[in-house]
Amino acid sequence: PRSRSVAAHTRSKSRRRSRSQNPSANNRPSPQDFSFMSTLGEGSYSTVMRARYTRTGQEYAIKIISKSHLIRKDKMAVAMAEKNVLVKLGTGHPGIIHLHWTFQDEWSLFFVLDLAINGEMQARISRMGSLSLACARHYAAQIMDALDYMHSKDVIHRDLKPENLLLDSDFRIKITDFGTGKLLEPGRKLSVTSSLCSASQIPPEERANSWVGTAQYIAPELLERSETSRSSDLWSLGCIVYQMITGRFAFHGLSEYLTWQKIKALDYTFPEGFDGDARDFVQRLLILDPSQRLGAGAEGSPISRAALRAHPFLSSVKWETLWTDPVPPLE
Ligand code: ATP
Repeated sequence: PRSRSVAAHTRSKSRRRSRSQNPSANNRPSPQDFSFMSTLGEGSYSTVMRARYTRTGQEYAIKIISKSHLIRKDKMAVAMAEKNVLVKLGTGHPGIIHLHWTFQDEWSLFFVLDLAINGEMQARISRMGSLSLACARHYAAQIMDALDYMHSKDVIHRDLKPENLLLDSDFRIKITDFGTGKLLEPGRKLSVTSSLCSASQIPPEERANSWVGTAQYIAPELLERSETSRSSDLWSLGCIVYQMITGRFAFHGLSEYLTWQKIKALDYTFPEGFDGDARDFVQRLLILDPSQRLGAGAEGSPISRAALRAHPFLSSVKWETLWTDPVPPLE
């Protein structure tokens, strides 16, 4: 129902009220320059629609965010943070969803994004049970390459998970959902931020309002000390590689609390037959001390791309053609 009302609203009212100026005047589109086609999905404060830009015929995903909802839920800062991070990341990397334009009308904010037509990696894993080792390796390399770029721009994602890895028309990864992304201040000690609380200390009734990442992928330093750094994204990468290969979460308890206990105790096992190099790679990422993870150094130091790429799990990756080679068969 929410998507229908947004679509209807988009078609009718925004025509008259859009704050974007005449496109020909500033070359900036407005809602009436798009024909809205179908709903791609719903987030907690947004509806994402597939839309065609009538001036070029190009298709995009447009994230439509209700302003009243943002205000009611006190989420304006989250939406602005997402926009700022996307602007900072720009169009410099194929593995990250690009923000092409933003505009607004009286009721909504509109983010015009790359369309990732093949949806979320999570859905692929669920549908197929797990991914082939070759495909998991290729995706691990694409995620690492995109992370490398993101980190070079002083952005930490903090909520990497298969739901936030979208697949484009060629099934290449596009990382999305920067609402919880963190812009680092260069030169400053990375870590505790006011938006984070130590997850295990938050009373259940307050958890919904305190962002603590997604239970299965959250790094232990976030749980224990509310600290985050580039290395937290490496932890999530370890969880994702494990899940792509096995189809299961590395850490999963019967409740969020029990999952956190397992993470803090590094309580996970590999199923029989798990590839040896992949196992070593995952083990070197799932390390409680963030500075000891593969490629990580002392707090605040950049991740060593060379150390990650030198791992045997990735030795067959052709980095120069990573984004142009076809993705290996998914299963
Ligand atoms: P939340 O905001 O609660 O974290 P979310 O990140 O899934 O949830 P949105 O970013 O609004 O919220 O996305 C909603 C859904 O729309 C996603 O689940 C995804 O399937 C789809 N979607 C989002 N962006 C795109 C895109 N660029 N291309 C294709 N589909 C997209």
